[in-house]
This record gives sequence, C-alpha cells and structure tokens, in this order.
Amino acid sequence: MTQESGGRPAVTISRRGADRVRAGHPWVYRSDVVESRNVYPGAVVTVAQERNARGGHTPSSDRGRRRPASILGSAFYSTASEIAIRMVAPKVIEDPAGLVRDRIREAIAYRKRFVHDTNACRLIFSEGDLLPGLIVDRYNDVLSFQVLTQAMDTSRLREVFLKELGARLNPAAIIERVDPRVRRLEQLPPLETRLLPQMPAQLIEGAEGASPSGSEVLPAAKTSTEFEMNGVRFHLDALGGQKTGAFLDQRENYRAAREYARGHALDVFCYQGGFALHLAESCEKVTGVDSSRPALEIAERNAGLNGREIDWIEANAFDLLRDYVAAGNRYDTIVVDPPAFAKSKSHLGPAVAAYKELNLRALKMLRAGGVLVTCCCSYHVSTRDFLDVVAAAAQDSHRILRILDNRGQAKDHPTLPGIPETAYLKCLVVAVS
Ligand code: SAH
Repeated sequence: MTQESGGRPAVTISRRGADRVRAGHPWVYRSDVVESRNVYPGAVVTVAQERNARGGHTPSSDRGRRRPASILGSAFYSTASEIAIRMVAPKVIEDPAGLVRDRIREAIAYRKRFVHDTNACRLIFSEGDLLPGLIVDRYNDVLSFQVLTQAMDTSRLREVFLKELGARLNPAAIIERVDPRVRRLEQLPPLETRLLPQMPAQLIEGAEGASPSGSEVLPAAKTSTEFEMNGVRFHLDALGGQKTGAFLDQRENYRAAREYARGHALDVFCYQGGFALHLAESCEKVTGVDSSRPALEIAERNAGLNGREIDWIEANAFDLLRDYVAAGNRYDTIVVDPPAFAKSKSHLGPAVAAYKELNLRALKMLRAGGVLVTCCCSYHVSTRDFLDVVAAAAQDSHRILRILDNRGQAKDHPTLPGIPETAYLKCLVVAVS
C-alpha cells in the first residue's frame, strides 16, 4: 500500500453523492465516484463535487470552463468496498492522525458522561463515533478491537489508535478480533484473532500461559477477565465467544427486562446468559435456551459468579418452542433475542416469517399478565416492520399486547440522526393479556 506520486489523493463525486453528504450521510457509493486521482487502498482523500454536474445550477455557457471545485471535505477511501468513500470531516484534513486521536478522546469522554453502572462498554462504534471501520470494546481491563476498513487497517492509523487507546486506558491486554469475511470483502490481508504482542510491561510480569503464534512466542498476558453490567458479573474469554465477546448493546435492555420480569421466566437465544442472569434477580425460576454449548458453558460459569441457579438447555429454539407449546408449558416472562435473520435486504421475507413464528410461539406460552421482551438486531427489519411482526403474532395468538417500552441499543452504540445504518437493535417490552 504505497502512495502513488503526483499529489494528494482526491476524488470527485456526482451531485447525487454530494447531496447525500450534505444531508449528513457519510457514505458515497462507487457509482457516485466520477473521478479519482492518486488514490490507493485506505487513502485519506479530499472529496469534491464534480464541476458542471448535469442537473446542477451551472449555466450552460460555463460548461467545460474551469471553476473552483466545491470541496466537501476529507474521507477514507476504499478500493474494494461498494462504499468507496466514508466522509470523516466536512473540511480538508491535513493531519488524519490528529483527527483520529481527537475522535477517540471525544468517544471516551462521551462514555464517561453517559454510560453508567458498568465497566464494560463499546468505546468506539465506527460511524457512530465518526471513526469509520473501527470498533473497540472495553471489558474491564481488557480491550478488544476490530478493523473493518482499508483506512483503519493502514499501519499509520493502527499505530495511532492503538497508542491512543493504550495511553488513555492502560489496558492489561489488547485483543484484535478478526471477521475474516469483512477482511476478504475489503481485500485486506488475512489475520487471526489474537492477543497483540506489545503488552504493557506490568502485565507481562507474572502473567500465565504464553500462546505461540507462528514461530514467535507471544509474551504471556491475560486473555480472560471479569466485568460487570448493572451489578451482574460476567466472565470474558476474549479469544472465544461471538461478536466481540458479549452483547453490550443489550445492557440497558437487560436492566429494563429485570424491572418488568417476574414469576417463571424463559430466555430464548440466551448466549452467555445476559438476560437470564438479570431475570434471575426478579424471577423465581429462570430457564435459558441456546444452541451453542460453549455459550452455555460460559452462561453456567456466569450463574456461578452471581450465585444464581439457572437451567440451561442446549436446543434449537424453533423446535424447542414448538414442543413446549404442544406440551402446554406456561411462563410469566419470556425473552426472545435471536441472531440477525436478515443479513441483507433480500432476506427480509424469510426473516420476517422467522421472527413472527418465534413471537407467536412465545405469546402462546405467556400467562395473562405476562411480559414479552422481544428483540430484533437486523438493521434491514425496521422498527415499523418489527412492530407489524409482533402485531401479526398477537392477532394469530388472540392476545392483546400493550407496549410498555419501545427500546433500542445502549447509548455506547450511538445512533446518529443522519445515518440510519447506525440504528439496528429493536427491543420491545410488551404486557400480554
Ligand atoms: N440474548 C443474548 C444474545 C443472543 S445472540 C445476550 O443478550 O447475550 C443469538 C444467540 O442465538 C447466539 O447465542 C446463538 O448461539 C443462538 N442461536 C442461533 N440460532 C439458534 C437456534 N436455532 N436455536 C437456539 N439458539 C440459536
């Protein structure tokens, strides 16, 4: 990834692309790129609107004449993604490293001010923190990060953000979590999820278990820790698990669920027990269901950490709910938090059908006066779509639902008004009669 000679990387975009940027959306698709000069993978580019754009206000007599370009600002450039440009500032940035440092400081200050009752949170949420392609989660003394764009993957920016995070937070360990699919799509060289070798000195002393990586032996460092959300304790195995370890985006919904829950509770798609452990504080009996044995093993460990007894069942949730309905099982509280069924727009139909089926089965098992906490983390299913799904399930099960709380993702996953893609999680709490 070397910079070509011949000046600063610059991109000219169509009027359509420019209008979108002016309206506050940072993405410009490749189809709106009119011309690019001196670009390379991950370049920080100056973005301008094309001169004499058709449909613009340029008088025909001016066409073809050189006029000053209308500069829109600076952006991260990708040679691979359909999203060719991700705007990072509305002016030309001379010092991208300084920009990244400032944004990290700002992101940390935002969490300090607005995120409470936990030592685990998402510190950097990509576009949500104006740092496209960087996700950083903090679990107590362990940081876990993920790089999703060519620009964030350049050694220059990696060095900047790792140094800044290290200096500000002094973590015991930093782990890079790799999504191989995203790296392939971004045409980035393959990497393995790993503990970063440069560990702070205090950690290297007396730590256990060095793990070999190729020929080089990493310094010993911790890859597991314990963290807290809402007073509930969790174990983290930073090199295992799904996503970046735990579902921090549900933290505020766990709290809400705990408030509304009572009686006998069922947590469907429980993973490592996020909801179940919270429900156990307000319910007499809690059962968690998931198809992943490793997730349930951590869930059991988490129950132990909190001195709780929870029944964990390894099963396919669709089959289990069908059998439970047939068997006449009844609950006072049910949580349904499935994985994203609609990974793209084309999956919307089958995804909606799956969400409906799950909610229908849950509603059939709820006692009158019960509470359903139902979630959907598919961005492509809108809040309205999801309400329609739940309404349809209510019709089919002849239940009356009252919405107690219409919720989204926790505040450490900021949603920006101009970027709908930053909002993906829906969580409805409904009273069922
Ligand atoms: N509620 C959890 C997050 C759930 S993520 C929390 O708050 O932490 C979705 C979970 O669904 C994953 O743990 C995955 O293992 C599980 N899963 C996916 N398909 C499943 C299926 N068909 N049956 C049961 N569990 C499933």
